[in-house]
Amino acid sequence: MQKLTGKVALVTGGNSGIGLTTAKYLVAEGAYVFITGRRQAELDQAVEAIGKNVTGIQNDVSNLADLDRLFSIIQQEKGKLDIVFANAGVGEFVPLGSITEKHFDETFNINVKGLLFTVQKALPLLSEGASIILNASVASITGIPALSVYSATKAAVRSFARTWILDLKEHQIRVNVVSPGVVPTPSYYRLGLTDEHFPVSAIPLGRVGTTNDIAKAVVFLASDDSSFVNGIELFVDGGMAQI
Ligand code: NAD
Repeated sequence: MQKLTGKVALVTGGNSGIGLTTAKYLVAEGAYVFITGRRQAELDQAVEAIGKNVTGIQNDVSNLADLDRLFSIIQQEKGKLDIVFANAGVGEFVPLGSITEKHFDETFNINVKGLLFTVQKALPLLSEGASIILNASVASITGIPALSVYSATKAAVRSFARTWILDLKEHQIRVNVVSPGVVPTPSYYRLGLTDEHFPVSAIPLGRVGTTNDIAKAVVFLASDDSSFVNGIELFVDGGMAQI
């Protein structure tokens, strides 16, 4: 039996990597999914790859007018949202001493401001019992050389869930955080990451993660299988952040 029949979901950054795989899993479980991304060509490819029950909307999460347009389209097309996977995010290796204002502003604008306003502007559409899943990272609780700004954004994301479960309790809306470990995706390769940065030997399960590993955890948090799970940070990292 499908777990998300009749549900409407939003996946920001759903045209690539973890977001794209998760959108496929949500559709496979019966949901209708809206995906966003900044680049139209990638978005079109993603919509084709997902195949059915999906709408792609070109959107920059750090632009509040873009977010208003996104939610007005969802309102017109479906009139509600049951699942929000706030996944869009960026990161760059910049050691302390070389951090620029541009690097700080861009990273916080997308990962923190963009995520916050995605969730806030989704609220009027959220159904009773909706599930919000925030994508953070093992970087929320660990030190990684030259990744301080990104890590601080992910600590902020983790923190949001703690307060938002209180702010939203009247509506029975759950908010949880998924924190991936090392998952080779387009952004992973763009950063020039190799086994030297995150040796597999540092991961107790002895392998890097796949986007499927993360998508399965998001489906769990989105569905009734996690009906009493609220405010947690679910590490999907092969044990990396626990040692
Ligand atoms: P990715 O580059 O494949 O995907 C990132 C997505 O975010 C893309 O769809 C991109 O279009 C979107 N995006 C970026 N800036 C945006 C903006 N301003 N507006 C709208 N969309 C925007 O990378 P990924 O690895 O799948 O990353 C997805 C999330 O997972 C990020 O939040 C990232 O921090 C987090 N994460 C990834 C890893 C990993 O190892 N891959 C580990 C921990 C956390």
